[in-house]
Amino acid sequence: MLDSGKYTKELSKLLFHSTNILCICHINPDGDAIGSQLALYHYLLSKGIKVEMLSPNNLQEFIKWMDGADKIIIYINDRKKCKKLIENADLIIMFDFNHSDRLGEAEEYILKSKARKVIIDHHLDSEDFADLIISDPTKCSTSELLHEIIQKINKEKFLERPYAEAIYVGIITDTGNFAHGAYSGNTFRIIADILDTGIEKDRLFNLVYNNFSADRLRLQGLALDRRMVVLPEYKTAYIFLTKSDLIEYRYRKGDTEGFVNMPLSINGIIFTALLVEKEGFIKLSFRSKGNFSVNDFARMHFKGGGHLNASGGEYYDTLENTIEYFLKALKSETNLVTSKV
Ligand code: 5GP
Ligand code: MN
Repeated sequence: MLDSGKYTKELSKLLFHSTNILCICHINPDGDAIGSQLALYHYLLSKGIKVEMLSPNNLQEFIKWMDGADKIIIYINDRKKCKKLIENADLIIMFDFNHSDRLGEAEEYILKSKARKVIIDHHLDSEDFADLIISDPTKCSTSELLHEIIQKINKEKFLERPYAEAIYVGIITDTGNFAHGAYSGNTFRIIADILDTGIEKDRLFNLVYNNFSADRLRLQGLALDRRMVVLPEYKTAYIFLTKSDLIEYRYRKGDTEGFVNMPLSINGIIFTALLVEKEGFIKLSFRSKGNFSVNDFARMHFKGGGHLNASGGEYYDTLENTIEYFLKALKSETNLVTSKV
């Protein structure tokens, strides 16, 4: 476990002695990336410190509504402004990722920047592209880790509403509302403190989880009925979706979120994959139960990464070839069928 106390002082110094602070999350940001970024934004704002926020690409519906999300500038929509912000920053804080290619188009400019760089994260196998890396893979979310750091920096409990909501969303999204991931007693103590502030947990849950279109639900039906392949001999199931599937079901960003988890509910299946045909490449998501490391699988075969039980990667070929390559990779994983759940 990370001794976050050691890093608190250093981060505190940077936060309170920098002039132009820029926060940035990973591409295709999830609830934890945006939750942690917004939490720091609200905390610093309450101390009279204004920060700029970037996302490499657009926010999905299930997080767009969050307090402060409208202040996040989208790199691909406003490149000129974003480059200027990066150039002017003297402190850049990165949330919920540890591989620089997760910065998308902004990568080149962030890496070039002379600003001090901080990573706050909970993924495995960090790349070294920051001056200060605060990473703890034993935490269920970057939001949980950030919350603990902020409580230490602030000395007394800090739980103002928009801040508490952001931490709450980060935690519920990275644990599938406490269904998976590295949540612990500590997570629930934080949740208890947040609930005691009187946040509207049902409203937040509905905004995150009951905010999809009918098309999305129908796409889920297609995925499970006709696009899922179950390979009991490998304890594996995968789902593929073609570009024309996405067009037919009027796909909107985020619609396939969560699909990869579903085949894990099949008895005996411990490894799942979702392959989605994008423009010029295939996006892959992986999940597992037990000690089969999808982080290793994604790193080894798909230049990706993530956590022990949740990871992702990309493959630049046709869907057909990607499936073939995936199956070959699967067959090479001799420890898969013997791994413990
Ligand atoms: P998801 O499948 O929900 O997109 O991602 C699951 C986990 O894998 C997340 O923690 C995410 O950060 C990580 N991940 C997803 N795609 C990639 C990728 O292309 N590269 C890396 N390094 N990590 C990824
Ligand atoms: Mn996370």
